[in-house]
Amino acid sequence: MIKKTLNNNHSDFDILQGLALALLANAIIIPHLIEMNYHPLSIEVIFFFIIIFIPMFGIGYISNWKIYLFFSSFITYWFFDSFFIDRIINLLIIVLIILFLINWLVDKTIYPLACIIFSLIFIFFSMFNYNGEFLVKEKLDTNINFNNNELNYSYLHIILDEHSSLNLIPNEFKDVEFNKKFKKDYISNNFDLYNNVFSESHNTVESLGAIFGLYVNENENISKKNYLKKNNKFTVSVKKNFLAQKLQEKGFKISFIQSNYYEICDVDRSYKCETYTRASNMNIFKKYNIQIKQRLKLALLAIHEDYYHREHILRLYRKILQFFYGEDIRSYGWFSRPLVNVLIFDEMKKKLNNLKNGEALIAHMLLPHYPFVLNENCNLKKISKWNYPLKENSNETIISANKGFLQQVKCTHKKIHTLLEIASKKDNLLVVIHGDHGARLYLDTEYENEIDNFSTFIALKDNNTSGKTIDENMKLQNVFTNFINRNFDN
Ligand SMILES: [Zn+2]
Repeated sequence: MIKKTLNNNHSDFDILQGLALALLANAIIIPHLIEMNYHPLSIEVIFFFIIIFIPMFGIGYISNWKIYLFFSSFITYWFFDSFFIDRIINLLIIVLIILFLINWLVDKTIYPLACIIFSLIFIFFSMFNYNGEFLVKEKLDTNINFNNNELNYSYLHIILDEHSSLNLIPNEFKDVEFNKKFKKDYISNNFDLYNNVFSESHNTVESLGAIFGLYVNENENISKKNYLKKNNKFTVSVKKNFLAQKLQEKGFKISFIQSNYYEICDVDRSYKCETYTRASNMNIFKKYNIQIKQRLKLALLAIHEDYYHREHILRLYRKILQFFYGEDIRSYGWFSRPLVNVLIFDEMKKKLNNLKNGEALIAHMLLPHYPFVLNENCNLKKISKWNYPLKENSNETIISANKGFLQQVKCTHKKIHTLLEIASKKDNLLVVIHGDHGARLYLDTEYENEIDNFSTFIALKDNNTSGKTIDENMKLQNVFTNFINRNFDN
């Protein structure tokens, strides 16, 4: 009876097989692309859908049902191995698949039909999770009362992750002209620029823990512990944000811009928090007029990065690549992030213009942090020109790593320069701009050294600053805490 049905509708069954394979394969890739913030109808998603659909449909269509069963179970296996969905849903789907496989013995059309329905559900489900925003606003606890003591000044604090001291870069890699401009831009806008400060640690959370803890020299051991491991979307969180506490006590209304790596905003949501993802937000390339050919290349690279570096999934993908290329597969890092930060800097321009007395804005920016994918005008470089710290990429040399870093520093400064000019026109604005450790270009290699690990800078502006450079070696947290104390402890 079944055989008879199959023979009669042979070509219908072939189409069903083709569709099932094509959609199953797409159910792996498309949700991953959307998860990386590609719009469901973006050129990248549509391109990959078609590129996968045509050959997989062909394979399903021409293969006999035994080969089809092999292919579809292979993709299904790959599918389960590659997804992050929670365990209960996973279990339910596995039970369903087993039921379908049993059905296969009864009627061969049921299995491909089930694959089609299942794939479509999965693809559509991922579309509902699409979120194209770069800065996600966290919910604010509306019951908070702010002290309305009419403060007559405002506060701006920008952390430039991995911004080393340009002064201490070895001469052969230094750009003397740029250093002059860097100094001039701060000094002419009335900032005091500390050129040679050293951070608590070469680790972001430890170094910034000391900053937010308002620690000074003596508290070294305590300050290193001023963070907590997190299990939610944040990796770590500052344990005690004394800075925020102090500002709030003074009556400040605080807004934070943070990455979802390190939560500096309060967990009870008494501050306004906006969070960008530190990983991939590929939606950014649409914003910056990147050519379609390059956008498709970037999407391919994003898929590769996503599959290669995910912990539990797609071991097979990693194994296949390692078989052909050996252990040293080039890593491209979260290459969309620097451009996302550029966009946030542009947003910050508006925020600073609108910053009123009694308001504080604190931003942790992952610029000039690697990967070094931007040129000095903040445009995305060609993929072959991207640079990394030495340990991140075996193709990198000391010269290329330094060159890439400096290009991204110049882009960062370009954005900061605009903010400095706005800041200088505002009365009673306290400003702090600093790095959190060195460039770390040689970290974990034989070239590792203290200056590269720890040297950074801090620039300050208040009523006491007069536009000068300070070249003395000092501790970053000491300079910062003194600045806070002289402005808020009276
Ligand atoms: Zn850092």
